[in-house]
Amino acid sequence: MTAAPEIRSTCPYCGVGCGVLLQPDGGGGLAVRGDPAHPANRGRLCSKGSALGETVGLEGRLLTPRVLGRDTDWDTALDHVAARFRDTIATHGPDSVAFYVSGQLLTEDYYVANKLMKGFIGSANIDTNSRLCMASTVAGHRRAFGSDTVPGTYDDLEEADLVVLVGSNLAWCHPVLHQRLLAARKARGTQIVVIDPRRTASCDGADLHLPLAPGSDVALFNHLLAEIDRAGAVDPDFLTRTEGIEAALAAARAEDPGLTGLDPGDLAAFCRMWIGTTRVVTVFSQGVNQSSSGSDKVNAILNCHLATGRIGRPGMGPFSVTGQPNAMGGREVGGLANMLAAHLDLDNPGHRAAVQGFWQAPALPQAPGLKAVDMFRAVADGRIRALWVIHTNPAVTLPQADQVRDAIAACPFVVVSDITAATDTARLAHVLLPATAWGEKDGTVTNSDRTISRQRAALPAPGAARPDWDILAELGRRMGWARAFDYASPAEIFREHAALSGIAGGFGRDFDISALAGLDAAGYAALPPTRWPVSATRQGGRFFGDGRFYHPDGKARLLALRHRPPVTAGGARHPFTLNTGRIRDQWHTMTRTGLSPRLSAHLAEPFLDIHPADAGDLGIAPADLVQVQNPTGRAILRARLTPVQARGQVFAPIHWTGETAPSARIDALVPPVTDPVSGQPESKAARVALRRF
Ligand code: SF4
Repeated sequence: MTAAPEIRSTCPYCGVGCGVLLQPDGGGGLAVRGDPAHPANRGRLCSKGSALGETVGLEGRLLTPRVLGRDTDWDTALDHVAARFRDTIATHGPDSVAFYVSGQLLTEDYYVANKLMKGFIGSANIDTNSRLCMASTVAGHRRAFGSDTVPGTYDDLEEADLVVLVGSNLAWCHPVLHQRLLAARKARGTQIVVIDPRRTASCDGADLHLPLAPGSDVALFNHLLAEIDRAGAVDPDFLTRTEGIEAALAAARAEDPGLTGLDPGDLAAFCRMWIGTTRVVTVFSQGVNQSSSGSDKVNAILNCHLATGRIGRPGMGPFSVTGQPNAMGGREVGGLANMLAAHLDLDNPGHRAAVQGFWQAPALPQAPGLKAVDMFRAVADGRIRALWVIHTNPAVTLPQADQVRDAIAACPFVVVSDITAATDTARLAHVLLPATAWGEKDGTVTNSDRTISRQRAALPAPGAARPDWDILAELGRRMGWARAFDYASPAEIFREHAALSGIAGGFGRDFDISALAGLDAAGYAALPPTRWPVSATRQGGRFFGDGRFYHPDGKARLLALRHRPPVTAGGARHPFTLNTGRIRDQWHTMTRTGLSPRLSAHLAEPFLDIHPADAGDLGIAPADLVQVQNPTGRAILRARLTPVQARGQVFAPIHWTGETAPSARIDALVPPVTDPVSGQPESKAARVALRRF
């Protein structure tokens, strides 16, 4: 018997967006290998992608709708949800309901959720766990460029002579992109600088590691900007396409580089490398974004690239790598509380009218909705009375997670759609809706370099599980908007999304995939990886090399910025700074990666990294249990003594939950402090006290 042809799909983990080839074994299993034809990975996979086949079993899957703990059918469950949402809106208004969704959603799922909440319920209370991931980048892009545009492509990392990783452990968090970078280094001698308070795996093979003081990125890049000017390296021609250089320089010159805590020689070496290398890419990620000054950090980086004109040309530019597989797709459909669909602006009456007309929607909200942290504050104080959480686990992952868990538990009506009922959030739901998982889903995702890839189903939907777009559309129909949500397939939704982007293109916006609006079912089924824009006039490629930006005057903006230290609580009684992050072989709250024995073998239990001298001062020996505590929460973790951790700083992974390690819910210790522009929480600078447990 000949095997069925392999199915082309996309890895569901990080924002690299690697292509995979799937071979069903006929018994519910899948063989997985890297797709040599996918431009993101060219056949490579990291440990997580390679282990995907071990995560598709039905162990622990939610397979039936449940209302108040009892299995039921879809009609009963969805009628109940529709009635409760309708009643809540009728009594308390549209802003009394909210959706909290996920960067794991496919673009089609995201599109329907956003259309339902913003277009028909009439509230902007839809936010996503991408708020915890890259909201500061969105804000920084919009301030500098007038649009949320990633200027470059992955190829730039291979065409650069210098790649600077800022707040990015690329080796663990975007491994295939790191492999591509190391291969380029071998082939052409690319220099690599890592800027990170910790000495991470990404430092192996780097030319320079700058262990800057937590949160001092603005001081560092302000200093670089001042040095660029002193060295005469500004690009006067490109600056005619920008506004704000003088104010930005005045602020930069006034900055104290000593705030970075860096060795002056290392700092000077970095500036020489950056200024002396035309082809420079600055990659940034959560270490920049997850900060109370995250937007300013992003703009401090963008300032340097704009001042030198090193943007939008081969091997040059700032480059945000997203954490999740479809954080970019979520941005494209407007899945954040402060965005409209297709990169249009919620606060622009013309944009609102165009989207309302396109959707034939009754009303669009006039103002932004509640961003994630504020959304759960509103759950806690009773302003939000009906909440739908889709494929994410806020009772573990939001700052002040214990209080968020309590708020969800007290919310009058909570719906969770997910692949499992065994999450801290799902256990609090009144209604559980079984959704299809990766391997069973069909749609599209957009990776960090704007490449739209198909995710294709290779396995049948188990039990009563349904795709998210289908569940959301069914709710829309049951709430009375049958025509607007009369979708029969993800292809139909994608066509509508692409057609709507043509309106954005008509407004002169960056996101335009209108050339894909005519895709028929076969064309959608066969859609190859395609980088946007895809319009009659533009196809893929880089942005901004021509000096055209999306502010009304067509110019970019440099911002005058000053260092702001992390907003911390606790003072001297909580002398350590807690950094949180991912480990190499786990993903988020381990719903899938936790099923793979070989992934779990990498680092099998939660831990706290601490410098040996700090541990010695506290009488903590290797493998001791340590209590980590602050006014927000408490955790008990196993100590790992390591000199890669700077003194006064500790690190703990984010992955463990109340289901897997109740004492290691690390976001219980993160205060609900956010960036004033982006609303992104400060997840890497909580102040904590330690003691041997
Ligand atoms: Fe998946 Fe990211 Fe690994 Fe690629 S690098 S296989 S997208 S986790």
